[in-house]
Amino acid sequence: MNLPKSESIAIVGAGIAGLTAAIMLEKLGFDVRVFESAEEIRGIGAGMGLASNAIKAFEYLNLDEEVISICNHLKDFEISDAKGKIIISADTKRIKQSYNTDNFAVHRADLHKLLLSKIRPDKIETNKKLIDLRILNEKVEIEFEDGNLREFDFVIGSDGVNSQIRQLFYPKSKPRYAGYWCWRGVVENPKENLHKSIETWGNKGRFGITPLTENRIYWYACIGSNLKDGVPEFGLKELRKQFKNYHQIIPEILNLTAKKDLISNPIVDIKPISRYHFDRVLLIGDAAHATTPNMGQGACMAIEDVAVLQDELRKNDWQMACENFEKRRLKRTHYIIKTSRIAGKFAQVENQFLISTRNYLLRNLPDTLSQRPLKQLLEKDFMEY
Ligand SMILES: Cc1cc2nc3c(=O)[nH]c(=O)nc-3n(C[C@H](O)[C@H](O)[C@H](O)COP(=O)(O)OP(=O)(O)OC[C@H]3O[C@@H](n4cnc5c(N)ncnc54)[C@H](O)[C@@H]3O)c2cc1C
Repeated sequence: MNLPKSESIAIVGAGIAGLTAAIMLEKLGFDVRVFESAEEIRGIGAGMGLASNAIKAFEYLNLDEEVISICNHLKDFEISDAKGKIIISADTKRIKQSYNTDNFAVHRADLHKLLLSKIRPDKIETNKKLIDLRILNEKVEIEFEDGNLREFDFVIGSDGVNSQIRQLFYPKSKPRYAGYWCWRGVVENPKENLHKSIETWGNKGRFGITPLTENRIYWYACIGSNLKDGVPEFGLKELRKQFKNYHQIIPEILNLTAKKDLISNPIVDIKPISRYHFDRVLLIGDAAHATTPNMGQGACMAIEDVAVLQDELRKNDWQMACENFEKRRLKRTHYIIKTSRIAGKFAQVENQFLISTRNYLLRNLPDTLSQRPLKQLLEKDFMEY
């Protein structure tokens, strides 16, 4: 049964979660308004993978064709050692079979631009940093840093890993440092016909390469550090030195990277929380379940969130939809946070003896074991939770 929708919804945070939710809620007829703390809405942070589950979620939202048109199709994903010798190849055929769609990579700026183009500009307010909210009898009042107060029927908190909204309900839920920093950039592809993602694990850190459209390559480097508050003066020069003995394409890519394009940040997640729904407020995306990027699933989970919420809202009123949403999303998103954190520790080992042992084990494990995290994630359709 499709119930008519007309309530007012404030969406706080215009990242992938907030923008996708705004598109979906507008289509269902809600009166939507998006608030973003930054001056401008844009995708920061080079590229990212959109695995088949995310593409399936976009299909439920009727956005898949347009999203795929700005994506690069990834045929394979491999993990290699520092010399470029394969340790493990992902079973992409099986992934494809589960969702009947492929894995892709996209430039964040391109995805943001596309999502933004689907929302009427007068529905979005920038320079609006939420600092507080109060649940009243039949409304939610939200307060911004500029002193402005506004009332809505419901609020969606999509304000990312540092979510102010989450911390109003869970004051202790701060981002957790995972023990490594990540540097990222985009360069022109130095190797034609590179269609696969390669992650290289060595004793100087982890280096990932993912081809994008328009002959671009997105790269990332993760290096262990005790300094969660800042790795001083670690720029391109240091990265080039760090990875100089890795297989050829890595030094090549670092040489092609311009200083102005380098982004770095500590890798964090949040400890799983037991609720995403609080009366008239719902958390989605990183605000609810930020994960380390080791499984490339943070944004994919945010898009799944929106598809599941749409499914619920088509059948139920807001409150019931949010209750069911929470039931359907907790287990899967907790699994990702936990598995991804462990995967990061495994991948980030920098002791040579442990590296050799790990690589030997991975190369010799039966596929059923080495592909298990992926199988758990991708063989069960997220709509069936
Ligand atoms: C190195 C790295 C690589 C990654 N790779 C992948 C990948 O390959 N695939 C994948 O699926 N995911 C990946 N991720 C995860 C992915 O980036 C996130 O899960 C995703 O961007 C989360 O989207 P979001 O909209 O929930 O949050 P964000 O993108 O963080 O958006 C939150 C928005 O809220 C705004 N905001 C914050 N506070 C307030 C406030 N108080 N008031 C108003 N607005 C506010 C922010 O300015 C921001 O625009 C990666 C993450 C990292 C760090």
